[in-house]
Amino acid sequence: MVIGAGIAGLLTARVLADHFAQVIILDRDHTPTAALRRSGVPQGSHVHALFARGLRAVETLLPGFGDELCRRGGHRIDVCNDLAVATPYGWGARFPSDLHVIGASRPLIEAVIRDRVLALPRVHLKERHQVDALTGTPGHVDAVAGRDLNQGGRAFAIQAGLVVDAAGRGSRLPHWLTDLGCPPVAETVVDAHLRYATRLYRLPVPPRDWRACYIMPLGPTHPRGAVLAPIEGNRWVVTLSGAGPDQPSTAEDAFLPFARSLTTSCIADALEHAEPLTPVMCSNATANRRRHLERTSGLPDNLLVVGDAACTFNPIYAQGMTVAAVGALALSRCLATRPHQSRSFAARYHRRLSSLHDIPWLLATTADLSFTDTDGPPPALHQRVLRRYLGRVLAAGTRNRHAQAAFLGVLNMVHHPATLLAPHVLLSTAFAR
Ligand SMILES: Cc1cc2nc3c(=O)[nH]c(=O)nc-3n(C[C@H](O)[C@H](O)[C@H](O)COP(=O)(O)OP(=O)(O)OC[C@H]3O[C@@H](n4cnc5c(N)ncnc54)[C@H](O)[C@@H]3O)c2cc1C
Repeated sequence: MVIGAGIAGLLTARVLADHFAQVIILDRDHTPTAALRRSGVPQGSHVHALFARGLRAVETLLPGFGDELCRRGGHRIDVCNDLAVATPYGWGARFPSDLHVIGASRPLIEAVIRDRVLALPRVHLKERHQVDALTGTPGHVDAVAGRDLNQGGRAFAIQAGLVVDAAGRGSRLPHWLTDLGCPPVAETVVDAHLRYATRLYRLPVPPRDWRACYIMPLGPTHPRGAVLAPIEGNRWVVTLSGAGPDQPSTAEDAFLPFARSLTTSCIADALEHAEPLTPVMCSNATANRRRHLERTSGLPDNLLVVGDAACTFNPIYAQGMTVAAVGALALSRCLATRPHQSRSFAARYHRRLSSLHDIPWLLATTADLSFTDTDGPPPALHQRVLRRYLGRVLAAGTRNRHAQAAFLGVLNMVHHPATLLAPHVLLSTAFAR
């Protein structure tokens, strides 16, 4: 039983279908047949980059996914060549590579995954089924209970051998666990109070020098950034971001001036004669929140928590979908080596998942803790060192392709941050200004 038909829930269902006779996904939403926005995923209006590692992970589970996304309107983008990155030190070097992402809207990414997963004979989706509680004992969940919104909210309870919470950032997991009589799960929260403002556009002429553009925040004194990327339907998604007093507003006439206030005017220039297709859509759901399931004993032995329900990241670092996909692959490996009925299965999976969260969490929180208004524990020594060194790598990357490739490889989660210490990268940083 999977609660939530978002990216994590669908990919988890894909994995479970190899091991269970029947996999039921419950979602409170009506899931559209086309690639349309839905209320259960409010973040769906904002730019959604599926990083290279995430793309590879989804393709492992759903071969041909990338090509299908492109057939349905997505744009394959070489991260090192087609993406213009404005760093605090100048433009990042550009050169051809095998590091690809696909420019597509979140609804399209989800629709392509959903169509493939729901085509599996063992997977069934129950739409408009709102989960309110788990029933059973603190050590074992027997059933999932809630309301069937198709039938005026009639109560339902469905028994399950294994339950997966994939209900996203807004999961009611802490309440469900308290009601079962389980101990509380400790959380770490780092919140930079970042706000997103997004609009879709049609551009009269596509930019000549790049296919997508990312303007990084300058740091504590200028925490404003932006992304412009092509999506399906000959449209472009533009997301502005800012923290504290530099947050973008919902006002339509403030959108372009904010884009002009960035360190480079290239996005504002591209929008100058563009046709806005939507109003400005905002999101403040950007805190990093990590639930330490791996440290909590006494949780149900058949309850797994995946995706944003387990760990959310500030979306500006575009890690969530990739971490969800990598987490689903890890579940596949766990199920291949150990029966899910074993008492320690959930605890082992949560330990494995937590180790996958370590690096994206380190990168996201290290950057966020540099902003002045961030709430969270003070940065540790290794985070201060990492931030300074990343600054040098970025500076070197404006002139040296090895440094830029190393940075983008780590950002895309295909390389471990330790690769930033490779001799050729170290050497390039020695001469960086
Ligand atoms: C503004 C913003 C921008 C983002 N940009 C990026 C990006 O560029 N790249 C990236 O990789 N990630 C991005 N993310 C993160 C990304 O959206 C998530 O990490 C990713 O979708 C995985 O989420 P999930 O599947 O766990 O949850 P979601 O995708 O949020 O899905 C949760 C599902 O659970 C359902 N649900 C919730 N509660 C219940 C209930 N009680 N009963 C039944 N169903 C329920 C919902 O209807 C929904 O379908 C962004 C997030 C935000 C907020």
